[in-house]
Amino acid sequence: MSERFNRITPEILAELREAVGAGNVVAEDADALESYASDEAGIMYTSMPEAVVKVESTEHVSAVMRIATRHCVPVTPRGAGSGLAGAAVPLRGGIVLSMERMNRILEIDPVNRVAVVEPGVVTNDLCKAAAARGFLYAGYPMSTETSFIAGNVATNAGGGRVIRYGSTRRHILGLEVVLPSGSVLDLGGRIRKETWGYSLMHLVIGSEGTLGVVTRVTVNLEPLPGRTINLLAAFAELDSAVAAVAKVVRAGLPVVSCELLDRVSADMAASHANAPLPCQDSTDAYLLVQLEGDSEERLDDDCERAGTLCLDNGATEVFVAESRTESAAVWGLRQNITEAMRARDPYCSLSGDIVVPLSAVPEMVGEIRRAASERGIVVAILGHVADGNLHPTVFKPEGMTPEEWTDCAEAYYDDLTAAALRLGGAGSGEHGVGYVKMPIFLRSKSPEELEIMRGIKRAFDPMGILNPGKMPGEGPVL
Ligand SMILES: Cc1cc2nc3c(=O)[nH]c(=O)nc-3n(C[C@H](O)[C@H](O)[C@H](O)COP(=O)(O)OP(=O)(O)OC[C@H]3O[C@@H](n4cnc5c(N)ncnc54)[C@H](O)[C@@H]3O)c2cc1C
Repeated sequence: MSERFNRITPEILAELREAVGAGNVVAEDADALESYASDEAGIMYTSMPEAVVKVESTEHVSAVMRIATRHCVPVTPRGAGSGLAGAAVPLRGGIVLSMERMNRILEIDPVNRVAVVEPGVVTNDLCKAAAARGFLYAGYPMSTETSFIAGNVATNAGGGRVIRYGSTRRHILGLEVVLPSGSVLDLGGRIRKETWGYSLMHLVIGSEGTLGVVTRVTVNLEPLPGRTINLLAAFAELDSAVAAVAKVVRAGLPVVSCELLDRVSADMAASHANAPLPCQDSTDAYLLVQLEGDSEERLDDDCERAGTLCLDNGATEVFVAESRTESAAVWGLRQNITEAMRARDPYCSLSGDIVVPLSAVPEMVGEIRRAASERGIVVAILGHVADGNLHPTVFKPEGMTPEEWTDCAEAYYDDLTAAALRLGGAGSGEHGVGYVKMPIFLRSKSPEELEIMRGIKRAFDPMGILNPGKMPGEGPVL
């Protein structure tokens, strides 16, 4: 624990229990606290909180923040803990502020086409509630069945539909945000345009819990598309798959998703699900393309055009998922791939999340493979390829200790980040900086950019108690 912060004393605990109810405060129970010590970045990135507070209302959040500010105790907001960058890890102990009990869908407003929800609503629950009223909530991280909506806001989550609908930022119209002082900001609203000063709302989106605590979210809803269709194309060369993506997107086809799986990740997913994929020995990569539209006939034509474009650009086989069951099976492979990788190696590092312009994807893939082979490690590549967003996952070689492995994986991702920046990209397309990428993040930004970011941080959080050690902080302290 840094000397800058105070430890939680029995007196502070008593104040917290008084403010939110004893049943909402966890302390002294090491097993219960441990579940809040890490996220999906992996067991290598762990730091114990001193208390977990499960808030039920905005008033609770304000009260906790006032107590934390008064006693200078760090607070780390937490959604579902599905983050892949260690952003919800309480690096300096203190309080983990859990949103799990603020999970109500407050309103679906069909006239203004918005939904208003509490921060702990599971993303897919919002999608289902919107669909039941004839709307689409277009946010679709692959963790949709676990992640919370405010976690999506705080990481500006991307996922499988960004090429058509954009990242979470595009879906957010309003936020209620509690500052470390306990004051409540009401930002944005049920409007789709605003030129009314600096957008504080957009500063909070993607700020990874470092500026304020999101306590209510107003999201944009789209009309529900009539029908979707999925096709899976196998390619002998990954570069040809990327060339096909560019052509399919440029053709103006209604592409919602365009997912890339290299052979290594596809084999892992298929063997985990015991569902073989159509392939030949030569297959190097697959594209999973989803199209959507209202007219059945038009969509069938679009699907045929997409398939032809794939075949003209090097696909060896194109498989169209004809039924709901077949579509669910191919998407199931993509969605459960992380589980397949973790089953193979609990130490596999899922933190790879670089983004480059689409034209640079082949070169980036070359770098990913070269840097892995130089280190003698296995890499599996998947990604939202139409966005240029690649997720290389690396596996711990036998005989390497977990500590050596953490250093090795971090050095590997540092090299990839450097390559991505050189190619005009960034070190994270959607998972964020968190703890895992702090050192390279700090090295990659100019002093001027960092100074502006630190000024923003000071304006929101003068004592630096919100999620300390993260962006744009002084660096990791574990
Ligand atoms: C299998 C799998 C697939 C994934 N696929 C994708 C994907 O396709 N696209 C993608 O973008 N990500 C993906 N992720 C990563 C992760 O699910 C997202 O980053 C998600 O947005 C995190 O949400 P969460 O609720 O779990 O947040 P957490 O992990 O709990 O927290 C993430 C950050 O948000 C902050 N935070 C949480 N709640 C609040 C709040 N109320 N106020 C302020 N800050 C808050 C935390 O402090 C932390 O900094 C995937 C993860 C897994 C495990």
